Amino acid sequence: MISLFHNGQIILESGVASNVCVICREGHIDYIGPMPSELPPQTELISLQGGYLAPGFVDIHVHGGRGHDFMDGTELAIREASRAHLQHGVTSLFPTCTTATHLQIMQMLRATKRVIEQRDAPDSNSKSHSDLPRIHGVHLYGPYFAEDKVGCHTKSGCRIPTVEEAVEYFATGIIKIATCAAELEGAADFYRMASRNGCLITCGHSNSSWGEMDAAFQLGMRHVDHFWCAMSSVVSLRPRFGFPMQASMAEYVLSNPEMSTEVIADGCHLSPELIRFAWQMKGCHRLCLVSDCNRALDMPSGRYAFGDQKDENWIYSDGTVGRTQEGGLASSVMALDSMVRNVATSTDIPLHEIIRMASLTPAERTGIATQVGSISVGKKADFVTLSNQLEVEHVYLSGRIVHKLDK
Ligand SMILES: [Zn+2]
Ligand SMILES: [Zn+2]
Repeated sequence: MISLFHNGQIILESGVASNVCVICREGHIDYIGPMPSELPPQTELISLQGGYLAPGFVDIHVHGGRGHDFMDGTELAIREASRAHLQHGVTSLFPTCTTATHLQIMQMLRATKRVIEQRDAPDSNSKSHSDLPRIHGVHLYGPYFAEDKVGCHTKSGCRIPTVEEAVEYFATGIIKIATCAAELEGAADFYRMASRNGCLITCGHSNSSWGEMDAAFQLGMRHVDHFWCAMSSVVSLRPRFGFPMQASMAEYVLSNPEMSTEVIADGCHLSPELIRFAWQMKGCHRLCLVSDCNRALDMPSGRYAFGDQKDENWIYSDGTVGRTQEGGLASSVMALDSMVRNVATSTDIPLHEIIRMASLTPAERTGIATQVGSISVGKKADFVTLSNQLEVEHVYLSGRIVHKLDK
């Protein structure tokens, strides 16, 4: 199968290119350049009608969608939540845990593993799997959070890491991103294990100091979850350390060029100047856009469980963001396409850099960028086509259309 995308604006790593076309062959990107004078006779021509061709989005921090949380722990929930994000242009994702019991997390890991195996089986052309985004592995996010930074997660599901427990998680072979608060007893052993398993190691829901971050960095920690949310600040460290005041996770990430981080750019968590500041300080190679989206994506306003439905840990969606009963923020209800639009309309960050932060940068940080994350020759033909208003129109996986906007 050969297809040729033309008549639009191609969002490349280096910038937005007009007057070029993209040719895909057997599911991969084969050519980017001027329209060739001759084409193989069976080539399918796809006009972008002046809109954009962007790499499919990559979400490294996502909890659910369309009524399902990955922590519901069933194959149905994993598939449906993933599909919901595919329709928003996400072609690669990492289902993300919450705090929960050992058993609940094992169920989520096993169900995700089964879905990945079914999706990637060589004979899997069945309808139930062909419209799933690529699931590259799990983000083990909870349960190793600091109790004073637990956010909207259950406190009861929060604990310190032990080798015995974490060994079982890593033995599933599907954990690719591993979060642990750096100040917890047992964090060092956890980071060593995550490092041996080739994970992107991240520190989140943490009240750690510069010194604790630096010790974690020596063990391979390279990323911090949702910058400014559920993380330490100079002020939050005062009760732990007194005077002199201590530098926090924020100063550590901003000053260390190897560290990456992510922002929830839904317009509700962070103001435009904070997003622009994070980009200005870290650059588009070290800043990711994440959805941190809960199950209320594409659902009416109302009450939803955050994490496993059975835990009845209620949050409230007003259609723009999730909130706790006390009025605090409780993750987003939007997918990455909304984040991209929001950053594009509220900041002066160049479009190709915004797209990079939602595709190539998260792909690089998680080690999947040789296959996906940008429109480059040799990579998989995973695309999202966007209107001039950056609305998702079509989604392609391996050059095959898997979603089309109903107009
Ligand atoms: Zn969080
Ligand atoms: Zn989250």
